Amino acid sequence: MKHFWLIMIFFAYFQTDTYKTERLNMVKSQIENRGITNTLILEAMRKVPRHLLVPENQKANAYKDRPLSIGDGQTISQPYIVAHMTDLIQPKKGMKVLEIGSGSGYQAAVLAEIVDQVFTIEIVENLGNRAKADLAKLGYKNVSVKIGDGYQGWPTEAPFDAILVTAAAEQIPQPLIDQLKEGGRMVIPVGKQGAVQELQLVERIRGKVKITSLGAVRFVPFTRDEKNKW
Ligand code: SAH
Repeated sequence: MKHFWLIMIFFAYFQTDTYKTERLNMVKSQIENRGITNTLILEAMRKVPRHLLVPENQKANAYKDRPLSIGDGQTISQPYIVAHMTDLIQPKKGMKVLEIGSGSGYQAAVLAEIVDQVFTIEIVENLGNRAKADLAKLGYKNVSVKIGDGYQGWPTEAPFDAILVTAAAEQIPQPLIDQLKEGGRMVIPVGKQGAVQELQLVERIRGKVKITSLGAVRFVPFTRDEKNKW
């Protein structure tokens, strides 16, 4: 019996270490080597245990350079896209950030390592509950997860320094623009499902809205609840 536990502890330790090695390699080869230099983001991604936020059957793929299925018909982006979108909002300590599309909770965890407060909304109940439980288990006290249609944003917590939308919207939801602080930045993939989507940066500068296109991307659709179609 004693040996059994010793072997189990050794195995658990060995596995944790394997994931850590994979994670550090992922940051080096997929993120740093592709030009992300923001050390806050690199440090956060070296820390967040992505394998503990994806479903059990995807653990072995957690650090691979490709999107992953997380169940309920949803797919999460490859790590580089998370780094790129995080980079675009210029995250800093002190910021309050809204994310639409909690999915696995990974993007929220990366943000939570850097900024003060993260608010994230997920429309699929199962996924939202799982992300909430997993983020709590990992000790993220500065992340709040809500189930609902992110189109309306989170009015009671607005305004936000930055908003990150991780599903492709047909148009930029006006409530999200309204909930952006003066000087705030929003990153959002815009376009119909199946068509080419474009990553857009929305900035609120002296009351005006400036939109910059940042190239083609592919995301799962930003869905609306039954009574609120696009
Ligand atoms: N940021 C996530 C990846 C999200 S994938 C991560 O790091 O894991 C996109 C997510 O957006 C899916 O989980 C999908 O269910 C969710 N979604 C789609 N439309 C939404 C809406 N209107 N409001 C909130 N979430 C939405």
